[in-house]
Parts: sequence; structure tokens; C-alpha cells
Amino acid sequence: KEELNIIQGALELRTKTVEDVLTPLSDCFMLSSDVVLDFNTMSDMMQSGYTRIPVYENECSNIVDILFVKDLAFVDPDDCTPLKTITQFYKHPLHCVFNDTKLDAMLEEFKKDTRRSSSAELLLQRLHCLQESAAEWVGCSAANQKPRCWSLPPRAQKPCRVSTSSAGFEVRPGREGGKSHLAIVQRVNNEGEGDPFYEVLGIVTLEDVIEEIIKSEILDE
Ligand code: ADP
Repeated sequence: KEELNIIQGALELRTKTVEDVLTPLSDCFMLSSDVVLDFNTMSDMMQSGYTRIPVYENECSNIVDILFVKDLAFVDPDDCTPLKTITQFYKHPLHCVFNDTKLDAMLEEFKKDTRRSSSAELLLQRLHCLQESAAEWVGCSAANQKPRCWSLPPRAQKPCRVSTSSAGFEVRPGREGGKSHLAIVQRVNNEGEGDPFYEVLGIVTLEDVIEEIIKSEILDE
């Protein structure tokens, strides 16, 4: 029975659209771009249990960034770091799709969302950037200075890219990482008198597409 369900689910990928499986904007856990990462905000995020959090400016439908919970590894809630400091540092690309995108096309797009750097490389990169900038900022040796996120000088806020070789690793400027198996779903709204505009309906993740194939909920740990 389960196998039949999966076959049926796989066949339906060609007819169903992202609009059929998305999480509506009203149910999304999001953050306003002007919040500070204090204890309350960070505990709300941890309690939400989501790994990626859309960040909006002024109104919920204006999503401008995605925050990954792992971006907070070096953030101390006592420092009350502005969220913008973190989103501008990582600059994760936003992935937008139209509401009528078929699920098979969405799956193909998600399959292309590979990361340029592995997690280990990214961690090395972040540590290196932070140490370098902390040393520069306080004028002391990186080896004995604890890197702090809020002390990043403008130069270090630029995203970097790491390349590893037998000789070690090298940090170069560039846009970090790939997309994230999460897309923002929008439609063209041409109802009413005014000009047509893009309306954000919600978000869709790889998990939503896979659930459609296996026809059952995936229970996160
Ligand atoms: P996570 O890795 O954060 O658990 P998943 O990709 O496993 O997210 O998605 C699980 C479900 O949660 C999906 O239905 C997805 O649309 C939804 N989801 C993902 N991120 C959020 C969020 N920030 N707010 C609300 N729902 C979300």
C-alpha cells in the first residue's frame, strides 16, 4: 500500500503545484529585520524549531533575507547584536518561485541547490574571518583574542569564500554558499483596479515536496 502511495505521489508531482503544498505566510515564523538578537528573540527562534527563518522589512510580505539558525553560532544574546549585522554578513541568497510551479520542476530546482562549500569549510571560513577581524579591531594577536560578532569592522562584513587544498585553506571575498531547499512562493496579483503586483503567498521547502511523494507527514526530531 505504501509503495502504491509513493508511485501515485510521484506521478502527481507533474500536476500539483507549489501552491498546493506551501506553508502560508500567516503560519510562517519570521523576524523583522530591525530586531536585535537579545535573549527573548533568540529563545523564540529556538522554540520555533525551524532551521531557516525568513526576515522581512516593514511588512511580512516583504521578505528580504533568510536567517539560518546556525548563523547564530557566534552570537551572544548579551551583546544584543542587530539582526541586520548577521544577515548582511552571511547574505544567503533568496530563492523565489511562482505559485504555479509544478512540484517536479520544484524538486529539480531544489536538487540544484547545492552548496559551494561544505559545512566544515564554512565553519573554518567563519572562524578565520572572525579571528582576523577581531585581531584587527582590537589590535592584538588572533590567537589570544576571543572573536566577537559585533566587533566586525566593515571589511570583514563582506562574505568570503574558502578554498581548501593540501596547503591549508584560503579565504577569498565572494558570495557564500548556495540556496537552501527553501523557496518563497509568489504570484502575480492582477485583481482590483491598480497595477498588477507580486504577492508573496508563503514558503515551500524540500520537505513539503517529499511529503507529497510519500503522502505522509515527516516527523522532525
Ligand atoms: P526545518 O528544517 O526548519 O524543520 P523543513 O524544511 O523540515 O524545515 O520543513 C518542515 C515544515 O515546516 C515544512 O512544511 C515547511 O514549509 C515549514 N517551515 C519551514 N520553515 C518554516 C518557518 N520559518 N516558519 C513556518 N514554517 C516553516
